[in-house]
Amino acid sequence: MNSATSASATASASRSHAQPASVEKVNLLGMTRQALEQFFEQMGERKFRAGQVMKWIHQYGVTDFEQMSNISGKLRSQLAEKCEIIAPEVVHRHYSKDGTRKWVFRVGDGDGSLVETVLIPADDKTGARKTLCISSQVGCALDCSFCSTGKQGFQRDLTPAEIIGQLWVANQSYMEDVPIAERTRSVTNVVMMGMGEPLLNFEPVVAAMSLMLDDFAYGMSKRRVTLSTSGVVPMIDKLAETIDVALAISLHAPNDALRDELVPINKKYPLEQLIAAAQRYLAKNGSDSQRKHVTIEYVMLDGVNDQAEHAQQLLKLLKNLPSKINLIPFNPFPHAPYGRSSRNRIMAFQKTLSDAGFVCTIRQTRGDDIDAACGQLVGQVADRTRRAERWKKKVADQHSEILRTQG
Ligand code: SF4
Repeated sequence: MNSATSASATASASRSHAQPASVEKVNLLGMTRQALEQFFEQMGERKFRAGQVMKWIHQYGVTDFEQMSNISGKLRSQLAEKCEIIAPEVVHRHYSKDGTRKWVFRVGDGDGSLVETVLIPADDKTGARKTLCISSQVGCALDCSFCSTGKQGFQRDLTPAEIIGQLWVANQSYMEDVPIAERTRSVTNVVMMGMGEPLLNFEPVVAAMSLMLDDFAYGMSKRRVTLSTSGVVPMIDKLAETIDVALAISLHAPNDALRDELVPINKKYPLEQLIAAAQRYLAKNGSDSQRKHVTIEYVMLDGVNDQAEHAQQLLKLLKNLPSKINLIPFNPFPHAPYGRSSRNRIMAFQKTLSDAGFVCTIRQTRGDDIDAACGQLVGQVADRTRRAERWKKKVADQHSEILRTQG
């Protein structure tokens, strides 16, 4: 299917989730294997039940305990009485002609909180690699100046079920009408790079990532699960101690003065500290041959961070940090204060980095017909938070000022 589909045609895979969650029941969707094993032990059951149930939930997309055929009827009844499997409700989905898929989820108890998730297939005709960009918070407190999500302000953290539920729904979207026995997981890669700063919602994000890595759930390899941070330095160290996944840094500027402006958390954790933390992360996890570099995300803003001098500064900054650099053409959103760098400028920037020996890619602009940049679709569906209001007022005031000065 490649046509737009609105709330009225919410994915059948998540139809059951439109029902309000029962307060008394335990939602098993976001429980790690360890938590689920404890849960079954407390019920007087054997630990291996956890793996069995996880497979039904995450690999076959089953939410009805009655369908879990390798579990006794008695236990199925107990589970149905005490538990539920509820993913966030899909309120909008949109499938692009190029294969990109995007969902807007309602999370929480009817407080209007929305998050979005984007699936981008590889541009290699086979479409075998499918990368899902997952949100970790409703909105974001960090207010990066080029980011649509930042303009919406922070509302709340997502729970483990709301985080892993995004992956669950994305996989489900390929399972519709497929018999249970023939179902396979379609999403091959995950990047924690959607709305929010994942390291500021640490425990739920780690719980969800542990499910991504777990063979009884999604069984992804460590190099296919990437956490992207804007640079919360102490939490990078904590991450290194906690779980082994790939690390990406939303860098976007090669010097502190510019990064203070684009990524304000830089004022707290400047570049020198950030690069050192990334080096420590590799030193901790880098013994694995798959963990030899970090990914550097660098959005290309016309005339702001895309000049030859910036490329030179970037080379110097990354000299001692094994990195792959991903240049991201900026995807403008309404009232954005920046424009996208020209193709020639991006190519020249890439050449400087590649000539110096860095692997440097340019992200394909995909899903342009569905506003694939982080936070844009939610911004359209419900752009109503206070910061959004302040932002709109500021833009209106600027327009008034321009009109006034122009006489
Ligand atoms: S770029 Fe990431 S960290 Fe910055 S405001 Fe947007 S969501 Fe938050």
